[in-house]
Amino acid sequence: MSTLRVLAVASEAYPLVKTGGLADVVGALPAALAPLGVQVRTLLPGYPAILRAIGAAPVAHAYANCFGGAATLRLARAAGLDLAVLDAPHLYARDGGPYLDARGEEYGDNPLRFAALARAAADLGRGFGGQAGFDVVHAHDWQAALAPAYLHYDGGTRPATVMTVHNLAFQGRFPGLTVDTLGLPWHAWAIDGVEYYGAIGYLKAGLALADRITTVSPTYAREICTPEGGMGLDGLLRHRAQALRGILNGIDDTTWNPATDPRIPARFHATRRTARVRNRLALRERVGLAPRPEAPLFGVVSRFSWQKGLDLVLEALPAILAGGAQLAVLGSGERALEKAFAAVANAHPGQVAVRLGYDEDLAHLVQAGSDAILVPSRFEPCGLTQLCALRYGALPIVARVGGLVDTVVDASDAAQADGTATGFQFGPVTAAELTRAIERALALWHDPRRWRRVQAHAMTIDVSWRRSAAQYAELYREIVRR
Ligand code: ADP
Repeated sequence: MSTLRVLAVASEAYPLVKTGGLADVVGALPAALAPLGVQVRTLLPGYPAILRAIGAAPVAHAYANCFGGAATLRLARAAGLDLAVLDAPHLYARDGGPYLDARGEEYGDNPLRFAALARAAADLGRGFGGQAGFDVVHAHDWQAALAPAYLHYDGGTRPATVMTVHNLAFQGRFPGLTVDTLGLPWHAWAIDGVEYYGAIGYLKAGLALADRITTVSPTYAREICTPEGGMGLDGLLRHRAQALRGILNGIDDTTWNPATDPRIPARFHATRRTARVRNRLALRERVGLAPRPEAPLFGVVSRFSWQKGLDLVLEALPAILAGGAQLAVLGSGERALEKAFAAVANAHPGQVAVRLGYDEDLAHLVQAGSDAILVPSRFEPCGLTQLCALRYGALPIVARVGGLVDTVVDASDAAQADGTATGFQFGPVTAAELTRAIERALALWHDPRRWRRVQAHAMTIDVSWRRSAAQYAELYREIVRR
C-alpha cells in the first residue's frame, strides 16, 4: 500500500488551540490515519500560541505580500502533529482568540485572515518550486474552505480535495468582499463558484468545488440536505449528494480512558466499575452537592448556546428535583444562560451545582462521577460529549438529532432485551420530551441490575477514531485513484 500524503487545513487543532470539537478532530485524526498509510501534515494559522509551540522552525516558503504583509510558511513538529504554519504577523499576531478579539468582537479582517490560510494551503498542496506536493488537500470548515476554490481556479493538475463540515451554522459569508481582493478570477463570481446570495460564501465555495464533501455523522449528512437542516445550503448539498458522506467523529481514547485517567480520583473500566462510586463522591464534593449517595446524579458539560438546548434542562429541572436527583453543570457561553443556571444553583443549594467556565479536569470528573449526561441539542453534527459519556459509563440522554442518533441506542424494552441499549433518546426536542426521558432514566436507575447492564454495554462501545479513520483513508484513496 503506497503512502498517501494529505494536507489538512484548519483554524484550530487540539491541544494547540481549541474552541470546539473541530480542534479535537483535527488534532486526533492524523495519529489514527498514520497506521493506515496516510501521512498528514496540518496547516494552521500562526497565532501567537502556535508560534510559541513551534519555536524556530525552518521556512519552506516566503511570501512578499500575503494579503497585506510579508509572511512565511514554516514546517515543524509539535504536540504530536506534523505542522505547516502560516506565520503572517499582520494577520495573526493578536491578543484574543482565533476569531474574536479580547472584547469578544470578531476581527474585522477575518475574511482575509482565512483567505490567506486557504491560499497557502493551495500553494503548499501543489508544492513549491518543484518540491513534491500533496495527494489530497483536506479543508475543515469555512475558515479553510477557499482552499478547494483556489486549487480549482488556479487550473492545471492539482491535489484531490475534501471539504469537511463540522457545523453548517458557521458559513463564512462576506458581503462587500470581491473576488479581486481574494486573488480569484472574475469568473469565480458565479452561482457554481464562490457567489452566495450576493456575497462571497467561503463554505459555499468549498461545498461547490471540492471533489468530496464529508460531515461528521451519517444522520447530519441527511439532515443538511433538507430545508429544515440545510441553513440555506440544502439545495447545493442535494445537488452534490453523490459527493457527500457522513463519517462519525471519534474521541481520543488515551485522553479519555477511565482505566488510566490521571484527572479522576478513582480509575475503573467496563468490568470493574465499583470505583466509580468514589468519583461520584469526589464530584459532589468538588462542586458542592450534598453527600447523598442514594441520589441519582445528572451531569452537563457544554457550551451554553441555543444549539445545545440547555434552556430545556432549566425547564425540565422539576423532573430532576422531584426525582430526588442532583444536577452538576459545567459550561460557559451566552450570558443569559449563565445567569439562569447560576440562579437555579442558588435556589437549590446542594441539589444543583453550576460551574461556569472551561475546565478540562472537571469535565473528566463530571463524566466519571455522573450517572447520566444530558445532551439536549437542537441540532448536533456529531457531538463528542456523549461519546465521552459512553466511555465513562455515564448514560447519555440525548436529543434525537444528528450524530446523537448515530451514537446512542435508546434503552427501549427491545434494546434492553437484546443488550444493545446504551442510553436514552428523546424527540421532538422539547422540554416535555426531555422530562419524559429524565423520568425514564430515573426509573431505570432505580432498577440497579438493569441499569448496570446498560452501563456495562455502553462502556464497551468503540468510540475511538479507528473505524472513522479507515473511512477517511478509503475516501482519500478513492479520489486519488480517479
Ligand atoms: P461543540 O464543538 O459544538 O462545542 P462537541 O460535543 O462536538 O460540541 O465538543 C465539545 C467538546 O468540548 C467536548 O470534548 C466537551 O467535553 C468539551 N467541553 C465543552 N464545554 C466544556 C467546558 N466548559 N469545560 C471543559 N470541556 C468542555
